[in-house]
Amino acid sequence: MRRLSPAPVATVFVIALLSIVSAPASAQVQTPEAFFGFTIGADGELARYPKVLEYFQHLAKQTDRVRYEEIGKTTMGNSFALVTISSPANLKRFDRLVAINRRLADPRGLSDAEAATLAAEGRPFYLLYATIHSTEVGNGQTIVLLGHKLATENSPAVREMLDNAVLLLVPSQNPDGQHLVVDHWYKTKGTNFNRVYPDLYHKYAGHDDNRDWFMFTQKETRMMVERVQNHFKPVITHDMHQQGSTGSRIFVPPFMDPFDPNIHPILGQEQATVGQAMATALIAEGKEGIASVEGYDQWAPARQYMLYHGQPRILTEIASASLADPFVNPAGKDRPLGPQEARQNFPKPYTKGEWRLSQIVDYGLTAALAGVSHVAKYRTEFLTNFYKVHKDWVRWKGAPYAFVVPAVQRDPLATYELLDVLRIGAVEIEQAASPFTAGGKRYDAGSWVIRVAQPYGAFAKTMLERQIYPDLRLFPGGPPKVPYDVTGHTLGYLLGVDVDPIETAFDAQLTRVSDLKPRQSPLPAAPRWAYAIGPESNAAFIAVARLQAANVPVFRTADARSVAARTYAPGTWIVPPGAEARGVLDAASKETGLVVTGLDEALPVSGYRLKPGTRIGLWRGANNMPGGWLKWTFEQYGFKHDVVSSTDFAGDLSSKYDTIVLPTGITRQTIVGGLDPARNDKSFEWAYGVGEAGWKKLAQWVRDGGTLVAIGNAVDTAQQLLDLPIAKALPEARGRRGRGGAAESAGDRDAAADVTRVLRDTFSSPASLSATLRDRVIEPESLFYCPGSLLRNDFDPSHPIGFGMPASWPVFFESDQAYRITPSFGIRPEVVARYPAAGPILQSGWLLGEDLLRDQANVVAFKVGRGYVVTLGSQVHFRAQNRATYKLLFNALFHGPSTMVSADELSRLGPVTSTK
Ligand SMILES: [Zn+2]
Repeated sequence: MRRLSPAPVATVFVIALLSIVSAPASAQVQTPEAFFGFTIGADGELARYPKVLEYFQHLAKQTDRVRYEEIGKTTMGNSFALVTISSPANLKRFDRLVAINRRLADPRGLSDAEAATLAAEGRPFYLLYATIHSTEVGNGQTIVLLGHKLATENSPAVREMLDNAVLLLVPSQNPDGQHLVVDHWYKTKGTNFNRVYPDLYHKYAGHDDNRDWFMFTQKETRMMVERVQNHFKPVITHDMHQQGSTGSRIFVPPFMDPFDPNIHPILGQEQATVGQAMATALIAEGKEGIASVEGYDQWAPARQYMLYHGQPRILTEIASASLADPFVNPAGKDRPLGPQEARQNFPKPYTKGEWRLSQIVDYGLTAALAGVSHVAKYRTEFLTNFYKVHKDWVRWKGAPYAFVVPAVQRDPLATYELLDVLRIGAVEIEQAASPFTAGGKRYDAGSWVIRVAQPYGAFAKTMLERQIYPDLRLFPGGPPKVPYDVTGHTLGYLLGVDVDPIETAFDAQLTRVSDLKPRQSPLPAAPRWAYAIGPESNAAFIAVARLQAANVPVFRTADARSVAARTYAPGTWIVPPGAEARGVLDAASKETGLVVTGLDEALPVSGYRLKPGTRIGLWRGANNMPGGWLKWTFEQYGFKHDVVSSTDFAGDLSSKYDTIVLPTGITRQTIVGGLDPARNDKSFEWAYGVGEAGWKKLAQWVRDGGTLVAIGNAVDTAQQLLDLPIAKALPEARGRRGRGGAAESAGDRDAAADVTRVLRDTFSSPASLSATLRDRVIEPESLFYCPGSLLRNDFDPSHPIGFGMPASWPVFFESDQAYRITPSFGIRPEVVARYPAAGPILQSGWLLGEDLLRDQANVVAFKVGRGYVVTLGSQVHFRAQNRATYKLLFNALFHGPSTMVSADELSRLGPVTSTK
């Protein structure tokens, strides 16, 4: 026929045929190829995020199956979108379908028969999101094809999906990163510059943006939780990722051990059935390299909000190409990629030595369609199980019965933050109108009660209890099996809040809290001498930052003093009265619950005067997540800070900074070498290396009076810089968790992904014990292991760096170090925090080799020349989660540059308006 017909006629015929096939839903729909100008998945080409959104708007306009909505703006002001796809009939009764989801999610007062009727009427909502990790670019392309297919095709398979399910599609969970990474990809085309965006692809969290699902710090997390999850109540969430290039081609559930015991077993089973429906579809299409039950576990709630909200978590991890370019096996193009031994959870190895973007798109599309199709086929079962999970939680009869948060705490702000995490997680909080007794303890009126028997009891329970991580070894008595993420997340410990589990039911006069606020304490009348603020609350630092910005002088007491039966702890904040001070303290107190007292008579005590306008330098480091998180925190607290730039080293450092912070991950190499100017353009000049001269200059800046604060493994950097008299007390960290991020260029590169394979290889030929294995496991003879747990420390609250800390509290420890003091003539170390000499150290999570920590130092302060150094061995600031230990860091920021004042000077404060 083609031979006989002139070309224009054939074209007309094809167009006519297409419109018959897809009418009426898609008469005017452009194909992705026509819209973007290239085939989706073509080597070297990436659809840009704004254009992807335009395409979904196009589908929404041209068909009656698609709705498009901008939910809000991201951190950097980009559009965060939600696309809803279903049959026109379902979209017409959309509100009714949402109402059914909401009713099934809270089954109180609902009979099984009523639930069955609702499940039959309802439609399961399948929430799918792409590119939370921005270098995992393939999935952001796949969704274009998925949207086009569902919007236009009239096959029975697509009809069934549309009729029986509702797809909620978030085109990117981190739109900012799509702009950064994809724009960089095109900007560097044909240059010698690195094609991979060299910095954090989320302004603050970088690759950690998928570890924010309980602290809810970032705007994108909040939009997803509050505007999508809590609002629509989907029955399943599918999170699309890519992994490293050299393992399996795709991971689908089920997951490897362990899982958090608070995850309802129905959800694990649903994960298995959906994951294996995906695997079956992939294999049926002849695709190779499909793996399950490896690499990814389900312990840490930071990655899995959905599991505590009635939904299975579907994770797909597809092998990465080199962004949009093909990945070729470095061992040779003809050497197949990935493991080559078939097994039950990996039935067919991949047989080629190359891997391309088009394959990522192809695998992803098949998996997503199989997932939606499976849920659509079993729509009633999914809705019924959604109901059952919540019903079981509502009828919880186990222990504990509830958690009580006592009304009076060391830090009202931290208490509020703890309750607010629960509130955002849709947990119901009650408050006692009068005193009550529970678990043999008396609680004041105003204490909060969180009962486990409620729809989202799973979330409350996992966040408030202590984690007992299973002792998983590669073989009995052998090295630990590396968990995917951290192992302890007890919120009370992280935040510095007392939370009591109460095992059995009790009576109390409780009312639901609808309007959560920090516990308020009224501001006292203007005192004759000064306002005083205890050192316990982090909120004081919010006030201090504002007082400094307003040029109000701020002091701290050096010792404890008692006046009129009231004791003022060492480090009590002293603020001279005045209109500006009062305004700041009044506002801060209302916002944070900060407790301010007034003193008419001076405390007979010496103290410290903070350096006015203390200037903080943050050595953020390119693609360094801890630095990104610190940036976020410093902004939240309003600290006067700047990111340290290589250009600062052209001038006098002391003219710019009083204090410089080195986050974990900042090494001598980061400082001296930094980003290579030949591979990274001038916009990254701030992260270029400062060379050996810069290294020396930094050391001299400290000796001349600067304050250096080092966190986590940056303590080594500080030790090398200044020859500090400390030495590592623990064996070198091995078996680091696979957490992606700083070291990776594309994809998760999750180290833990092939522990199983490595172990098997090791047993089959011990001689092949590879560098990979040595990097991932620990020899039993030097067994110390702590992959993110809460460990008890004893503090010295009379030391300026320990001001406000309790005598004992857990610190977060994630593959960190402890230190012993070594002899020194020049530098005198002062230990502020150490691991206890006796008693249990592990409070939550997993720890092997506890005795190696006994009596070792964690936080140490040093006077170095005229300068000051504080080393914080454990990560006292981790993903903006462990706020109980922020004070150690904040104290260091401000104390180093402060000056001593005598009791006599301090007594003469009186009203001050401004020091301007
Ligand atoms: Zn990822």
